[in-house]
Amino acid sequence: MIAEALDKIRSTLPQGVELVAVSKFHPVEALAEAYAAGQRAFGESRVQELLTKIPELPADVRWHFIGHLQTNKVRALVGTRRIALIESVDSENLLRIIDSESERAGVVSNVLMQVHVAQEQTKFGFLPDDLLDFFRRRAFESLRATHICGIMGMASNTDDTARVRADFEAIAALRRRILDIAPDLRGFDIVSMGMSDDYPLAIEAGSTLVRVGTAIFGERE
Ligand SMILES: *Cc1c(COP(=O)(O)O)cnc(C)c1O
Repeated sequence: MIAEALDKIRSTLPQGVELVAVSKFHPVEALAEAYAAGQRAFGESRVQELLTKIPELPADVRWHFIGHLQTNKVRALVGTRRIALIESVDSENLLRIIDSESERAGVVSNVLMQVHVAQEQTKFGFLPDDLLDFFRRRAFESLRATHICGIMGMASNTDDTARVRADFEAIAALRRRILDIAPDLRGFDIVSMGMSDDYPLAIEAGSTLVRVGTAIFGERE
């Protein structure tokens, strides 16, 4: 079932769009099944859960952290030296702590800046103006062990496709505006947007990385 779901989703992804299988709350057996079907990138949203899963899966798994990251958990996460991408940097303070902990661990962390464009109050992330301001101030220049690889965002949780499309377009446009502000940014290429219910719309709007959970693994417990 997992293999079939993966095949189905992959067949719809254009070249250059990466699929991250969001495996949070699912047991390692489910991840192993996806791995056997060729899946290598997995997304988890809790540090403790990720720490227990890492040793249970092969070493070539690329782990993405996609949840709200508490500053007191950064050392444990970065210290695994196994995180391919932290997608959910939602404050400058968190970014600084990731940077210092990465330097301490002797790794370079790849991260995405999470932007908040959705209607809901509860979602984490930089407001677009604050993110533009961050790059205008060139605050990234002082990072020593962190590479900002792009942005991540979520659309509003609504059936209104026009609204969802507008949210995704706003996220993709924000990346282009950031590159206008800081044209010397290197490798600022990733636009992570799109989940089970909305990833086709996200791809139309320019997503390069979709984070799909339910459509692969079924409902979470
Ligand atoms: C849980 C989660 C997903 C996957 O959601 P599905 O609707 O199950 O595909 C994607 N992105 C983030 C940030 C998540 O927390």
